[in-house]
Amino acid sequence: MTEVVLDAVNKIFPDGFHAVRDVTLRIPDGEVFVLLGPSGCGKSTILRMVAGLEEITSGSLWLSGRLANHLPPRERDLAMVFQNGALYPHRSVRGNISFPLEVAGEDMSASAERIVELSRALGIEETLGRLPSTLSGGQRQRVAMGRALIRQPGIFLMDEPLSNLDAGLRTELRMEIGALVRSLGVTTLYVTHDQTEALTLADRVAILRRGVLQDVGTPQQVYDDPATIFTAAFLSAPPINLVRASVRADQTEGVVLSFGDQQLSLPWSDDRATALVAQHGASVTLGIRADALRPDPEGLLAGRVRTLEFHGHEWLAHVEAGVALVDADAFRDDEPAHAETPGDRGLLRRLLKTTKIISEDAPAARVPHDGTHRRSDLVFRLESRAGISAGDNVRLAIDTDRILLFAEDGRRVDKVER
Ligand code: ATP
Repeated sequence: MTEVVLDAVNKIFPDGFHAVRDVTLRIPDGEVFVLLGPSGCGKSTILRMVAGLEEITSGSLWLSGRLANHLPPRERDLAMVFQNGALYPHRSVRGNISFPLEVAGEDMSASAERIVELSRALGIEETLGRLPSTLSGGQRQRVAMGRALIRQPGIFLMDEPLSNLDAGLRTELRMEIGALVRSLGVTTLYVTHDQTEALTLADRVAILRRGVLQDVGTPQQVYDDPATIFTAAFLSAPPINLVRASVRADQTEGVVLSFGDQQLSLPWSDDRATALVAQHGASVTLGIRADALRPDPEGLLAGRVRTLEFHGHEWLAHVEAGVALVDADAFRDDEPAHAETPGDRGLLRRLLKTTKIISEDAPAARVPHDGTHRRSDLVFRLESRAGISAGDNVRLAIDTDRILLFAEDGRRVDKVER
C-alpha cells in the first residue's frame, strides 16, 4: 500500500486566500489518519491535493517515496468517497461496485466472488441486485465505499462520508469503516469536523485551524496532552475550563499561579514549574477538564453552583467562581475572514455570515474568534447529583497533575512528547 508524506505544503487559491499553510505530515502505510478541524480550516483542501484534484502551490507531496505533485489522479492509486457518495442511478449495487473493474478491463467472472465478499463485509450483500434509488442513505454510502475499495487502492480518501446520516447509523458505520480499512491494510485519510468520529476512528489525528496544523498524535495524546490551546478547546465536550492566571516564580514556594483571589503553587519538583520560569510576570491559561475538578471542602477553588445539567451518564455543574475564563466554545467557530468564495459554498458561507450579523445582539455572536471572551462559569463533572443543588456554595479541588498550561501564543508551556 502507500505511504503519504506532505512536506511544507501550501495552498493559495487564485483569489489570494491562503487556505493551507506549511503543512508537514507523514502518514505511514496502512494507517487510519484523520484530519479534524472546524469548517473552513483546510481539511478538504489537503485531501483534494493528495487526490490530485487541487494543485499544490508550494511544498511537496510524496506517495511511497515518489514525488507526486504533478502526478495525474489516475496514477496515484487512490479512491475517494465524499459526503454524498453519488452512485450511478441506472446501475444495480453490483453494477456500481464492479464499475471500476470494468473500466480497468478486468475479467468480471473472476471478480464476482470478490464483489460478494466485499458487499458482505459492508453488510449490503442482500442489496446487490437493487438500484440505488431503493437504498437507504447508509446503504448508499456503503455501496460508494464498496466501489472505492473494490480495486484495493493504495490510499482511501474519505471526506465527511457519514455527515448525512443519522447519529445511530453514523456510529455503526464508523466502527465498520474502521474494521474494514484495517482488515484491508489500506492507508486511509479521513476528513471530519466531528471530534467523536475522529477520536474513535483514528490511529492518529491531525487538528487544523485556519490552514495551520495545531497538533498531530494518537487520539489519547491529542486529548490528554494537547500541544495547543486550540486542540484542548476543540477536543472538549463538555468545554474545557480555560482559566487565566498570572505567573510568579518564588524561590521557596515554586511557581505561583494566581487567578481571582485564589492561588496555586507548583513546587520546583514539578517539571512544569521549571518550564513556567520563562513566563514569570506574564499570564498563562490553565486548561482544566471538567473531570479534573471535584467537590472537596478543602478545595482550592470556591464558587456558587449556578445550574446543574443532567446528561444521562453524568451531571455537569456550572459554577460562578470569580475567575477570568476563556470561552473554549469560541474556538469552535473558526471561519477565517475570506474574500469571495466561488460557487454555492461561497454563497452559503456569505448567507451564514449575514445570519450572524443579524443575531449580533445575542451574546454568543460577540465572542471573538481568538477565544478571549470571558465567561463566568467553571464546569465540573459529577457522576451523580451527590446532594449538590443550584445555589449551593462549593469548594473544588483540582487534580493538579492534569492541569495543562498554555502560553500567550496558545502553545503548551511544557514540552509535549510525540
Ligand atoms: P468544510 O468542512 O466546510 O468543507 P474544510 O476544512 O474542508 O471545511 P476547505 O474546503 O478545505 O475547508 O476550505 C478551506 C478554505 O479555503 C475555506 O475558507 C474555503 O472557503 C476556501 N476555499 C475552498 N475552495 C476555494 C476556492 N476554490 N477559492 C477560494 N477559496 C477556497
